[in-house]
Amino acid sequence: MLMLSCPYCGVMADETELMPGGEAHLRRHGPEASAEDFKSYLFDRKNPKGVHVERWVHSYGCGKWFHAVRCTRTLEVFGTYPAQTHRPPEEICQSVAQRYPDWQWRDDGEDCETNSDSSSEGET
Ligand SMILES: [Zn+2]
Repeated sequence: MLMLSCPYCGVMADETELMPGGEAHLRRHGPEASAEDFKSYLFDRKNPKGVHVERWVHSYGCGKWFHAVRCTRTLEVFGTYPAQTHRPPEEICQSVAQRYPDWQWRDDGEDCETNSDSSSEGET
C-alpha cells in the first residue's frame, strides 16, 4: 500500500485518503506558444517505470495539494513537499540519487530521468 506524508498537516496517509493529480511540474507555455506546445501541455504525460514526480491532494484530510517523488516500480517514496515549489527539494533529489545514481532532476520542465534498470533488485 502506498503511504505518503502530507507536508502540510504531517499525517502519514494511505492512498485511500489521497487522490492522485498526475505528473507534477508541467511547463505551461505563454500566449505566443505554438499549437504543438499547447497540445503537449494538455495531453502529453510521462508514465515512467521508475522515479516519478507527481501531484497528490490530501482529499480526506486537509484538502491541500502537494508533490511526491516516488518510484512507480517499487512504491518507494523519497519525499513529499508543498505544491508551491518549482522543483523537488535538494534533500529529496539527493535521496533519489543515492538509490538511483543515474537519476537527476532536470530544471527545463522535464520530469525526472532515470536510466532504466540501473537498479536490479531481485523481485522474489
Ligand atoms: Zn494534509
